[in-house]
Amino acid sequence: MASSTIAYQLEILTERLAELYFVKRDYTGLSGFLSDKISWIGTGINEICSNYKEAMLFFEEEKKIYEGYFQMENTWFHGIEISDDLVIVMVTLTAKTPSDSSCLIEMPLRFSVIWKKEKGLWKVVHIHNSIADTNLTENNYFNIDAAKSAYSQMNEKLSKAVNSDALTGIHNMNGFIHETECIFKKYPEDSYAIIKFGIKNFRYINRVHGYGVGDQVLRNIAKNLQKTCNVGETCARIEKDIFAAAYRFSTKDELMYRIEHKVRAKLIDRRISRKIHMDICFIAGIYVPQDIQHEHVIDMLDKALIAQQAVPKNVTGSKLIYYKDSMMNSMIQKNELLEAAAPAMLEDEFKLYIQPQFDIRTHEIISGEALCRWKKQDGTLVQPNDFIPAFEEYGLIINFDFHMLEVLCKQMRTWIDQGLHLKPISINQSRLHIGYENYLENFCATVDRYQIPHDYIAFELTESAFVEQQDEMVELAAQLHKRGFQLAIDDFGTGYASLNFLSVVSADILKIDKCLLDGIEDKQRSRTIIEKTIELAHEIDMTVICEGIETEEQLEYLSRIGCDIGQGYLIGRPMEAMQFEALWMQQKEELKTYKEERKQ
Ligand code: C2E
Ligand code: CA
Ligand code: CA
Repeated sequence: MASSTIAYQLEILTERLAELYFVKRDYTGLSGFLSDKISWIGTGINEICSNYKEAMLFFEEEKKIYEGYFQMENTWFHGIEISDDLVIVMVTLTAKTPSDSSCLIEMPLRFSVIWKKEKGLWKVVHIHNSIADTNLTENNYFNIDAAKSAYSQMNEKLSKAVNSDALTGIHNMNGFIHETECIFKKYPEDSYAIIKFGIKNFRYINRVHGYGVGDQVLRNIAKNLQKTCNVGETCARIEKDIFAAAYRFSTKDELMYRIEHKVRAKLIDRRISRKIHMDICFIAGIYVPQDIQHEHVIDMLDKALIAQQAVPKNVTGSKLIYYKDSMMNSMIQKNELLEAAAPAMLEDEFKLYIQPQFDIRTHEIISGEALCRWKKQDGTLVQPNDFIPAFEEYGLIINFDFHMLEVLCKQMRTWIDQGLHLKPISINQSRLHIGYENYLENFCATVDRYQIPHDYIAFELTESAFVEQQDEMVELAAQLHKRGFQLAIDDFGTGYASLNFLSVVSADILKIDKCLLDGIEDKQRSRTIIEKTIELAHEIDMTVICEGIETEEQLEYLSRIGCDIGQGYLIGRPMEAMQFEALWMQQKEELKTYKEERKQ
């Protein structure tokens, strides 16, 4: 009671102060209330006062500007006791010149007066002014209800900004989580599916048509996605080109039908597809939560993402995959694999295996391909297909390839020191290196550190790199040749119909993939392709290696059609470097003996 009395007394005092200032314009009376340390920042330019003397000077100036008085309207005073000797009084009022005055002014004002008890007397130590927004009419801040509603409007705007995506206007990740949680609370008994999808060729669209068109595509998808949502459903743009939706369903068949025909087919306007001259493909993951009341929406989105990531990279067109628990296990395994990779490099667990490459006619081993194997500490041997794709996906391949290069160079140095010249050995290089600054410099630095002549090493890069990064490959090939390395096109025939790139990028070796060879027994088409490919390669001075030779028939056929070099289980599987050395030496000895016998 006592404290509110103080606050109330100071409200009265503040009202008197305001009357002295606005109505009576009695600055002398007013000055009795001011502390020596009175301060304020007023609403006028340079209207800053930091002590009593300055306040007096200010009042002098003010008197000169306007001699008349003001009327006070809409006054509101509210005192708050901070402590026994400190009270703040908030004020709103409108100061108006009288209606008969020559200039009509109406000033809505807001300020707080800070009162401090000095030697038993209440004095004003500070006045805090804030400029009222005169543009607000019915939302005028001098009306308390209006102030409250303006505050809630501001809150609404703020929450909209936090929850919605500036580009498309639909929810963002935050908004999606919030809205989905609300929906789940409202319909706890219903079945829901969380779908998350990305645009497969979005980077291409941005690159070829520009970011403006890319944004247009995103806005169009967002608009159409929102149209697909019924009551109790929601959608969002989660990040860049990733969208999400929460759909209600009764049967899985109905859900699939809806996604395929009512959602996917309608996500992009035909007008936009025509503009970019292509169909837009969607890669989607879908998760059907069992318990919408307890599982977090963010975990649901993660599971939809895991399903999305399970879509094979080389899939054509759009694709949707449902989340399964086994996917989570394989993701955990992948994470463990990635975590273990760096220590495994330090512990030398990645072993150098070499697969012999032989002359197709004489079967003599003339070169080899370096292939890695991960020998874990418990003795298990992991094949490259079980870890290289993950290394590529997470960029670890960059360090890994350099690590294997080092292992290879170390081995080759040992051979050279022993007077053995087992060469050339080709090494696989991920296409992720292309475009990395200093890639080739770093490669050469390692090779030169071990003083390996450059013609002892050949680069293998997959056909996809030659096709998709043609410009960079032209440059890389030129640089490699300048430095004396050979360049091989690996996995030829695995996907690209065009042979055009052969005339653009100058490579030395063409490695025909096993998949082409597999068809030769019963497919005339495969035979024609291989034969024409060899012919073409020879015409442009390339050496042809055929991979995956498993049978005598294949070997005989390849010899007949003029293939140069073979590689395959028939003659030799990938083997430890020491074994490769032994095989090579044994063959050299046999050849020597054979030649000597022939001489006698
Ligand atoms: P690749 O470069 O196409 O290597 C040839 C693959 O074919 C090897 O598989 C080899 O063992 C296998 N192969 C050879 N002859 C035959 C055969 O007659 N029949 C069958 N069925 N397969 C045969 P591997 O060693 O499992 O390597 C798989 C892939 O992993 C390689 O394919 C290569 O792309 C990648 N890889 C291996 N080592 C490295 C490396 O150090 N760095 C990089 N970036 N990739 C590597
Ligand atoms: Ca290879
Ligand atoms: Ca290959």
